[in-house]
Amino acid sequence: MDRPSPNLTPDPAALRLERALQLLDHSGQPAPAGRPGSGEWLQGLIDALVDLSSRDALTGLANRRSFDLALAREIDRVARSGEPALLLTLDIDHFKRVNDTYGHAAGDLVLKAVAAALHDCVRPMDLVARTGGEEFAIILPNCPSSFGDTVAERVRRRIERIPVTVGPAQQISVSVSIGGAFAPQWVRSTPTLWIERADQQLYRAKADGRNLVRLEAAAVSLVSSEEKRMLFDSSQFQDLE
Ligand code: GH3
Ligand code: MG
Ligand code: MG
Repeated sequence: MDRPSPNLTPDPAALRLERALQLLDHSGQPAPAGRPGSGEWLQGLIDALVDLSSRDALTGLANRRSFDLALAREIDRVARSGEPALLLTLDIDHFKRVNDTYGHAAGDLVLKAVAAALHDCVRPMDLVARTGGEEFAIILPNCPSSFGDTVAERVRRRIERIPVTVGPAQQISVSVSIGGAFAPQWVRSTPTLWIERADQQLYRAKADGRNLVRLEAAAVSLVSSEEKRMLFDSSQFQDLE
């Protein structure tokens, strides 16, 4: 079925609109509903573009941009509510070998399979993102620290068990190393600090042999000096001093 063509005049704004429509079409998204040019149609166009700019094109997961936004929001939520939240960072082990042995297209199939498996093995409230080439992250709001290891282990085992078809009658499997850190409760941290702490654990998982989970031991005692400064500079704690 032909997409209704908006009655665009050849001014610069109209040309920009045409480009947006081409981008949507190219990404396989349906045309916005409603009469072209109407408020409903424009809102649909904006929503579709927001969705497009929030997702990773290869895997359909949240991309780095929307991950950063979600992480900042989660930090605010933790600081307000005191609910625990876990950040996992994941990296496929020896992924370069997959590309080198089976080709880049096979590597892409592995990335898609890992993304789908990650998406399937977490709760709907958790956010799974592709943060880099073969790097992923999961934000798990309201995840008690006693569950952290179980959740991360479940993810690790799930990935090592998925078969990925990379050629005729050719299946391979991959593993991931996982690092994790809990958001310090009641402390206003920053996305960068939280990611750094999870990544430190990811490096440990790699160094200890890969296909492993390493979580930060005691979230409270590992609050960094910058986070402590944020805590004690914060007006909500001034009456404690
Ligand atoms: P390690 O276990 O230490 O993580 O080793 P590694 O081989 O996974 O890590 P390295 O950083 O050496 O290699 C990552 C590779 O991921 C290199 C790069 O070419 C590949 N890569 C990054 N993005 C993509 C992509 O979108 N598709 C494919 N097929 N490969 C990608
Ligand atoms: Mg990597
Ligand atoms: Mg890797």
